[in-house]
Amino acid sequence: MLYLVPTPIGNLEDITLRALRILREVDRVWAEDTRVTKRLLDHFQIQTPVSAFHAFNEHQVTASLVAQLKAGATFALASDAGTPGISDPGFLLVRECVRQGVRVECLPGPTAFVPALAASGLPSDKFFFEGFLPHKKGRQTRLQYLATLPCTFILYESPNRLVKCLEQLAEVCGPERPACVARELTKIYEEIRTDTLAQLIAFYKEKNVKGEIVVLVGGAE
Ligand code: SAM
Repeated sequence: MLYLVPTPIGNLEDITLRALRILREVDRVWAEDTRVTKRLLDHFQIQTPVSAFHAFNEHQVTASLVAQLKAGATFALASDAGTPGISDPGFLLVRECVRQGVRVECLPGPTAFVPALAASGLPSDKFFFEGFLPHKKGRQTRLQYLATLPCTFILYESPNRLVKCLEQLAEVCGPERPACVARELTKIYEEIRTDTLAQLIAFYKEKNVKGEIVVLVGGAE
């Protein structure tokens, strides 16, 4: 059995009771960054061994992990924050487990885009999750595609690129398109600001933007 275990995106109180039990009971926790996950386990006095599973070794270790799972091991996969496989490593391992008949369970739990969408005030009945845009090649093509979508779309963005990203979105979607910047969710300085792209640009241009950010844009009319 492979458990995908979501971990807090800021507030440690968001770990679930079930996540704590699974992290305690599995044979090993595979972590995107062992130091980050060990800190979390230490906080909850969990002594399960932790090994690395990240974007740079997932191709090499997936086959061995699946073989161990098939031989009866029980593992948890955790990323630094949020749900594994959502703009984080996990997909390759899960696909291989599914192909080889290994049971996979994903615990419900923290992920950044769901609270951002639910609290944004933008339509949440249908939405499109883009995650990180490519930095250079293909970025413009993606932006143009997103601008045509008839539903809210969601991006993950870094604070130093926020204003540039909002400006590029305003170019393709128009400055009056409603949007939202959800920053530092679940943390002390959480800020969820919904306005037009033009107003958001004016606001954040004046700021030294810090923290983690989800950008949401209302769909084309
Ligand atoms: N697996 C995670 C999830 O389930 O949401 C996403 C991991 S991705 C590498 C990290 C990005 O998620 C950040 O750059 C930011 O865009 C977003 N993010 C993570 N934590 C956040 C938070 N507390 N507030 C706002 N955005 C956050």
